[in-house]
Amino acid sequence: PSVEEATRAWQAPLYADLTGDINVSFEFFPPKTEKMEEQLWSAIQTLTPLAPKFVSVTYGAGGSTRERTHNTVARIAKETPLSAAAHLTCVAASKAEIDGVADAYWEAGVRHIVALRGDPPEAGAKFEAHPDGYKGAAELVEGLVKRHPFEISVAAYPETHPDALSARGDIDNLKRKLDAGATRAITQFFFEPDTFFRFRDTVAAAGIDADIIPGIMPVSNFAAVQRMSAMCNTDVPGWMGKLFEGLDDLPAARQLVSATLAAELCRKLYAGGVRDFHFYTLNRAELSYAICHLLGLRPATLEKTA
Ligand code: FAD
Repeated sequence: PSVEEATRAWQAPLYADLTGDINVSFEFFPPKTEKMEEQLWSAIQTLTPLAPKFVSVTYGAGGSTRERTHNTVARIAKETPLSAAAHLTCVAASKAEIDGVADAYWEAGVRHIVALRGDPPEAGAKFEAHPDGYKGAAELVEGLVKRHPFEISVAAYPETHPDALSARGDIDNLKRKLDAGATRAITQFFFEPDTFFRFRDTVAAAGIDADIIPGIMPVSNFAAVQRMSAMCNTDVPGWMGKLFEGLDDLPAARQLVSATLAAELCRKLYAGGVRDFHFYTLNRAELSYAICHLLGLRPATLEKTA
Protein backbone atom coordinates (compact mmCIF):
# COMPACT_ATOMS: atom_id res chain seq x y z
CA PRO A 1 0.00 0.00 0.00
CA SER A 2 1.00 3.63 -0.57
CA VAL A 3 1.75 5.96 2.37
CA GLU A 4 -1.76 7.45 2.06
CA GLU A 5 -3.55 4.12 1.94
CA ALA A 6 -1.49 2.79 4.80
CA THR A 7 -2.17 5.85 6.93
CA ARG A 8 -5.91 5.78 6.17
CA ALA A 9 -6.06 2.17 7.25
CA TRP A 10 -4.88 3.04 10.79
CA GLN A 11 -8.32 2.86 12.23
CA ALA A 12 -8.99 -0.53 10.71
CA PRO A 13 -8.02 -3.37 13.01
CA LEU A 14 -9.06 -3.39 16.63
CA TYR A 15 -6.84 -5.43 18.92
CA ALA A 16 -9.62 -7.98 19.26
CA ASP A 17 -9.48 -8.55 15.48
CA LEU A 18 -5.75 -9.22 15.38
CA THR A 19 -4.98 -12.88 14.93
CA GLY A 20 -1.23 -12.98 15.46
CA ASP A 21 -0.51 -13.67 11.76
CA ILE A 22 2.87 -12.04 12.23
CA ASN A 23 6.54 -12.98 12.49
CA VAL A 24 8.48 -11.58 15.38
CA SER A 25 12.15 -11.50 16.33
CA PHE A 26 13.75 -10.37 19.56
CA GLU A 27 17.06 -8.62 20.13
CA PHE A 28 19.10 -9.05 23.32
CA PHE A 29 22.44 -7.74 24.53
CA PRO A 30 25.13 -9.93 26.10
CA PRO A 31 24.97 -9.78 29.90
CA LYS A 32 27.88 -8.37 31.94
CA THR A 33 27.11 -9.74 35.38
CA GLU A 34 25.56 -12.86 36.81
CA LYS A 35 22.44 -10.93 37.74
CA MET A 36 22.08 -9.62 34.19
CA GLU A 37 22.64 -13.13 32.92
CA GLU A 38 19.72 -14.35 35.00
CA GLN A 39 17.56 -11.53 33.68
CA LEU A 40 18.45 -12.39 30.09
CA TRP A 41 17.65 -16.08 30.48
CA SER A 42 14.41 -15.33 32.21
CA ALA A 43 13.48 -13.03 29.28
CA ILE A 44 14.44 -15.72 26.76
CA GLN A 45 12.35 -18.27 28.66
CA THR A 46 9.31 -15.99 28.69
CA LEU A 47 9.57 -15.08 25.01
CA THR A 48 10.44 -18.54 23.61
CA PRO A 49 6.82 -19.82 23.50
CA LEU A 50 5.98 -16.95 21.11
CA ALA A 51 8.07 -18.90 18.57
CA PRO A 52 10.12 -15.98 17.23
CA LYS A 53 11.54 -16.39 13.72
CA PHE A 54 14.94 -15.67 15.27
CA VAL A 55 16.52 -13.94 18.24
CA SER A 56 19.69 -11.90 17.96
CA VAL A 57 22.46 -10.81 20.31
CA THR A 58 24.25 -7.48 19.88
CA TYR A 59 28.00 -6.91 19.63
CA GLY A 60 29.36 -4.23 21.97
CA ALA A 61 30.99 -1.06 20.67
CA GLY A 62 34.41 -1.80 19.22
CA GLY A 63 33.97 -5.54 19.60
CA SER A 64 34.12 -5.18 23.39
CA THR A 65 31.69 -8.07 23.90
CA ARG A 66 33.19 -10.50 21.38
CA GLU A 67 33.40 -13.37 23.89
CA ARG A 68 30.15 -12.61 25.66
CA THR A 69 28.20 -12.28 22.42
CA HIS A 70 29.65 -15.55 21.19
CA ASN A 71 28.91 -17.38 24.43
CA THR A 72 25.35 -16.07 24.59
CA VAL A 73 24.55 -16.90 20.96
CA ALA A 74 26.19 -20.33 21.21
CA ARG A 75 24.22 -21.10 24.38
CA ILE A 76 20.91 -20.05 22.80
CA ALA A 77 21.72 -22.24 19.77
CA LYS A 78 22.60 -25.19 21.99
CA GLU A 79 20.03 -25.00 24.79
CA THR A 80 16.89 -23.56 23.23
CA PRO A 81 14.74 -24.34 20.18
CA LEU A 82 15.37 -20.79 18.93
CA SER A 83 17.23 -19.77 15.82
CA ALA A 84 20.05 -17.54 17.10
CA ALA A 85 21.66 -14.70 15.14
CA ALA A 86 24.91 -13.02 16.11
CA HIS A 87 25.54 -9.32 15.48
CA LEU A 88 29.04 -8.66 14.16
CA THR A 89 30.74 -5.32 13.47
CA CYS A 90 33.87 -4.18 11.60
CA VAL A 91 35.16 -1.78 14.29
CA ALA A 92 38.77 -2.06 15.48
CA ALA A 93 39.41 -5.45 13.93
CA SER A 94 41.26 -6.74 10.87
CA LYS A 95 39.48 -8.80 8.25
CA ALA A 96 41.37 -11.86 9.51
CA GLU A 97 40.09 -11.32 13.07
CA ILE A 98 36.50 -10.87 11.91
CA ASP A 99 36.76 -13.90 9.66
CA GLY A 100 37.96 -15.85 12.70
CA VAL A 101 34.91 -14.75 14.70
CA ALA A 102 32.66 -15.77 11.79
CA ASP A 103 34.37 -19.18 11.55
CA ALA A 104 33.79 -19.77 15.27
CA TYR A 105 30.08 -19.00 14.82
CA TRP A 106 29.84 -21.37 11.89
CA GLU A 107 31.53 -24.09 13.93
CA ALA A 108 29.12 -23.47 16.82
CA GLY A 109 26.19 -24.07 14.47
CA VAL A 110 25.18 -20.41 14.15
CA ARG A 111 23.90 -19.72 10.64
CA HIS A 112 22.59 -16.15 10.83
CA ILE A 113 24.71 -12.99 11.19
CA VAL A 114 23.46 -9.41 11.60
CA ALA A 115 26.30 -7.67 9.75
CA LEU A 116 27.08 -4.10 10.78
CA ARG A 117 29.76 -1.47 10.43
CA GLY A 118 29.46 -0.51 14.08
CA ASP A 119 30.49 2.71 15.82
CA PRO A 120 33.75 3.73 17.50
CA PRO A 121 33.73 3.07 21.26
CA GLU A 122 34.12 6.81 22.07
CA ALA A 123 30.66 8.39 21.76
CA GLY A 124 30.47 10.88 18.90
CA ALA A 125 33.84 9.87 17.34
CA LYS A 126 34.04 9.33 13.57
CA PHE A 127 34.29 5.78 12.26
CA GLU A 128 37.76 4.93 10.93
CA ALA A 129 38.18 1.57 9.28
CA HIS A 130 40.96 -0.65 10.67
CA PRO A 131 43.90 -0.50 8.18
CA ASP A 132 43.40 -4.19 7.35
CA GLY A 133 39.68 -4.20 8.12
CA TYR A 134 36.33 -4.10 6.35
CA LYS A 135 35.39 -0.50 5.43
CA GLY A 136 31.71 -0.90 6.10
CA ALA A 137 28.81 -3.30 6.34
CA ALA A 138 28.59 -3.90 2.56
CA GLU A 139 32.21 -5.15 2.50
CA LEU A 140 31.58 -7.20 5.62
CA VAL A 141 28.59 -8.94 4.01
CA GLU A 142 30.71 -9.71 0.96
CA GLY A 143 33.45 -11.16 3.17
CA LEU A 144 31.04 -13.26 5.22
CA VAL A 145 29.21 -14.87 2.31
CA LYS A 146 32.53 -15.77 0.68
CA ARG A 147 33.51 -17.60 3.84
CA HIS A 148 30.28 -19.46 4.73
CA PRO A 149 26.73 -19.51 3.35
CA PHE A 150 25.34 -17.50 6.29
CA GLU A 151 21.87 -15.98 6.31
CA ILE A 152 22.63 -12.27 6.70
CA SER A 153 20.58 -9.35 7.99
CA VAL A 154 21.73 -5.73 7.78
CA ALA A 155 20.67 -2.37 9.23
CA ALA A 156 18.46 0.24 7.53
CA TYR A 157 17.67 3.81 8.53
CA PRO A 158 14.18 5.22 7.88
CA GLU A 159 15.42 8.65 9.03
CA THR A 160 18.84 8.32 7.29
CA HIS A 161 22.07 7.35 9.04
CA PRO A 162 23.87 10.39 10.54
CA ASP A 163 27.05 9.67 8.50
CA ALA A 164 25.21 9.45 5.18
CA LEU A 165 25.94 12.17 2.62
CA SER A 166 22.28 12.06 1.53
CA ALA A 167 19.13 9.99 2.02
CA ARG A 168 19.61 8.65 -1.51
CA GLY A 169 23.23 7.69 -0.75
CA ASP A 170 22.04 5.82 2.32
CA ILE A 171 19.52 3.82 0.26
CA ASP A 172 22.23 3.08 -2.33
CA ASN A 173 24.34 1.74 0.53
CA LEU A 174 21.45 -0.43 1.72
CA LYS A 175 21.12 -1.80 -1.82
CA ARG A 176 24.86 -2.58 -1.90
CA LYS A 177 24.50 -4.55 1.34
CA LEU A 178 21.57 -6.57 -0.02
CA ASP A 179 23.22 -7.09 -3.41
CA ALA A 180 26.30 -8.36 -1.57
CA GLY A 181 24.24 -11.19 -0.09
CA ALA A 182 22.08 -9.96 2.80
CA THR A 183 18.48 -11.15 2.69
CA ARG A 184 16.71 -8.70 4.97
CA ALA A 185 17.17 -5.33 6.64
CA ILE A 186 16.14 -4.44 10.16
CA THR A 187 15.48 -0.76 10.75
CA GLN A 188 16.73 1.61 13.37
CA PHE A 189 13.91 2.40 15.79
CA PHE A 190 11.41 5.17 14.95
CA PHE A 191 8.23 6.41 16.56
CA GLU A 192 5.81 7.46 13.81
CA PRO A 193 4.33 4.81 11.48
CA ASP A 194 4.48 7.04 8.41
CA THR A 195 8.25 7.34 8.88
CA PHE A 196 8.38 3.62 8.11
CA PHE A 197 5.76 3.72 5.32
CA ARG A 198 7.61 6.53 3.54
CA PHE A 199 10.89 4.65 3.86
CA ARG A 200 9.27 1.45 2.55
CA ASP A 201 8.06 3.36 -0.52
CA THR A 202 11.47 4.92 -1.15
CA VAL A 203 13.22 1.59 -0.78
CA ALA A 204 10.77 -0.10 -3.19
CA ALA A 205 11.21 2.75 -5.70
CA ALA A 206 14.97 2.10 -5.55
CA GLY A 207 14.32 -1.44 -6.78
CA ILE A 208 14.90 -3.15 -3.44
CA ASP A 209 12.57 -6.08 -2.84
CA ALA A 210 14.13 -7.62 0.29
CA ASP A 211 12.14 -7.64 3.53
CA ILE A 212 12.52 -4.43 5.53
CA ILE A 213 11.64 -5.25 9.13
CA PRO A 214 10.70 -2.41 11.47
CA GLY A 215 12.79 -2.29 14.65
CA ILE A 216 10.46 -1.57 17.57
CA MET A 217 11.86 0.06 20.70
CA PRO A 218 9.47 -0.05 23.64
CA VAL A 219 10.51 3.01 25.65
CA SER A 220 11.17 2.08 29.27
CA ASN A 221 13.45 5.02 30.05
CA PHE A 222 12.41 8.13 28.13
CA ALA A 223 15.51 10.20 28.95
CA ALA A 224 17.82 7.40 27.76
CA VAL A 225 15.81 6.98 24.56
CA GLN A 226 16.01 10.73 23.92
CA ARG A 227 19.81 10.58 24.24
CA MET A 228 20.05 7.55 21.96
CA SER A 229 17.68 9.10 19.43
CA ALA A 230 19.79 12.26 19.22
CA MET A 231 22.86 10.15 18.40
CA CYS A 232 21.20 8.08 15.72
CA ASN A 233 19.04 10.71 14.02
CA THR A 234 15.69 9.37 15.22
CA ASP A 235 12.98 11.98 15.66
CA VAL A 236 11.30 11.94 19.07
CA PRO A 237 7.90 13.55 18.49
CA GLY A 238 6.86 16.27 20.92
CA TRP A 239 3.69 14.36 21.88
CA MET A 240 5.86 11.56 23.24
CA GLY A 241 7.65 13.81 25.71
CA LYS A 242 4.27 15.00 26.86
CA LEU A 243 3.05 11.45 27.46
CA PHE A 244 6.08 10.57 29.61
CA GLU A 245 5.96 13.83 31.60
CA GLY A 246 5.70 13.33 35.35
CA LEU A 247 6.32 9.55 35.21
CA ASP A 248 10.00 9.51 36.25
CA ASP A 249 9.21 8.12 39.68
CA LEU A 250 6.34 5.90 38.60
CA PRO A 251 7.95 2.95 36.82
CA ALA A 252 4.82 0.81 36.66
CA ALA A 253 2.74 3.61 35.13
CA ARG A 254 5.60 4.32 32.75
CA GLN A 255 5.61 0.68 31.62
CA LEU A 256 1.89 0.87 30.85
CA VAL A 257 2.32 4.06 28.82
CA SER A 258 5.28 2.54 27.08
CA ALA A 259 3.43 -0.65 26.15
CA THR A 260 0.46 1.38 24.90
CA LEU A 261 2.61 3.55 22.63
CA ALA A 262 4.60 0.66 21.18
CA ALA A 263 1.44 -1.43 20.68
CA GLU A 264 -0.25 1.47 18.89
CA LEU A 265 2.78 1.89 16.64
CA CYS A 266 2.67 -1.82 15.82
CA ARG A 267 -1.09 -1.81 15.26
CA LYS A 268 -0.73 1.05 12.77
CA LEU A 269 2.18 -0.69 11.05
CA TYR A 270 0.06 -3.85 10.86
CA ALA A 271 -2.78 -1.86 9.30
CA GLY A 272 -0.27 -0.67 6.71
CA GLY A 273 0.62 -4.22 5.75
CA VAL A 274 3.55 -4.94 8.07
CA ARG A 275 3.68 -8.56 9.27
CA ASP A 276 7.26 -8.77 10.58
CA PHE A 277 8.39 -6.99 13.75
CA HIS A 278 11.82 -6.92 15.40
CA PHE A 279 11.78 -5.95 19.08
CA TYR A 280 14.67 -4.27 20.89
CA THR A 281 13.91 -6.02 24.18
CA LEU A 282 16.77 -4.59 26.30
CA ASN A 283 16.71 -8.07 27.89
CA ARG A 284 13.28 -7.55 29.44
CA ALA A 285 10.44 -9.72 28.26
CA GLU A 286 7.32 -8.02 29.60
CA LEU A 287 6.91 -5.09 27.21
CA SER A 288 7.67 -7.11 24.08
CA TYR A 289 5.49 -9.96 25.30
CA ALA A 290 2.55 -7.64 26.01
CA ILE A 291 2.82 -5.99 22.60
CA CYS A 292 2.98 -9.35 20.79
CA HIS A 293 -0.02 -10.48 22.84
CA LEU A 294 -2.00 -7.39 21.80
CA LEU A 295 -1.15 -8.19 18.18
CA GLY A 296 -2.85 -11.54 18.72
CA LEU A 297 0.26 -13.67 19.09
CA ARG A 298 -0.16 -16.58 21.51
CA PRO A 299 2.22 -19.28 22.75
CA ALA A 300 2.82 -21.81 19.99
CA THR A 301 1.11 -24.58 21.97
CA LEU A 302 -2.14 -22.60 22.41
CA GLU A 303 -4.78 -21.93 19.78
CA LYS A 304 -4.52 -18.58 18.02
CA THR A 305 -7.26 -16.04 18.80
CA ALA A 306 -8.98 -16.22 15.40
P1 FAD B 1 27.00 0.89 6.92
O1 FAD B 1 25.89 0.25 6.18
O2 FAD B 1 28.39 0.50 6.56
O3 FAD B 1 26.79 2.46 6.71
C1 FAD B 1 27.38 3.44 7.54
C2 FAD B 1 27.28 4.81 6.91
O4 FAD B 1 28.20 4.95 5.86
C3 FAD B 1 25.92 5.15 6.30
O5 FAD B 1 25.67 6.51 6.50
C4 FAD B 1 26.13 4.88 4.83
O6 FAD B 1 25.22 5.59 4.03
C5 FAD B 1 27.55 5.34 4.68
N1 FAD B 1 28.24 4.67 3.57
C6 FAD B 1 28.55 3.37 3.49
N2 FAD B 1 29.20 3.10 2.35
C7 FAD B 1 29.33 4.29 1.70
C8 FAD B 1 29.93 4.70 0.47
N3 FAD B 1 30.54 3.83 -0.33
N4 FAD B 1 29.86 6.00 0.13
C9 FAD B 1 29.25 6.90 0.92
N5 FAD B 1 28.68 6.56 2.13
C10 FAD B 1 28.72 5.28 2.48
N6 FAD B 1 26.09 -1.36 16.57
C11 FAD B 1 26.94 -2.13 17.30
O7 FAD B 1 28.05 -1.68 17.64
N7 FAD B 1 26.59 -3.40 17.70
C12 FAD B 1 25.41 -3.95 17.34
O8 FAD B 1 25.14 -5.10 17.70
C13 FAD B 1 24.49 -3.18 16.57
N8 FAD B 1 23.29 -3.69 16.19
C14 FAD B 1 22.44 -2.94 15.39
C15 FAD B 1 21.24 -3.51 14.96
C16 FAD B 1 20.36 -2.77 14.15
C17 FAD B 1 19.09 -3.42 13.67
C18 FAD B 1 20.69 -1.44 13.78
C19 FAD B 1 19.74 -0.62 12.95
C20 FAD B 1 21.87 -0.87 14.21
C21 FAD B 1 22.78 -1.61 15.01
N9 FAD B 1 24.01 -1.08 15.43
C22 FAD B 1 24.87 -1.85 16.19
C23 FAD B 1 24.39 0.29 15.10
C24 FAD B 1 25.27 0.40 13.83
O9 FAD B 1 26.50 -0.26 14.03
C25 FAD B 1 25.50 1.87 13.55
O10 FAD B 1 24.31 2.49 13.16
C26 FAD B 1 26.62 2.20 12.57
O11 FAD B 1 26.91 3.59 12.68
C27 FAD B 1 26.33 1.92 11.12
O12 FAD B 1 26.30 0.58 10.87
P2 FAD B 1 25.76 0.05 9.43
O13 FAD B 1 25.96 -1.41 9.42
O14 FAD B 1 24.44 0.58 9.14
O15 FAD B 1 26.87 0.76 8.49
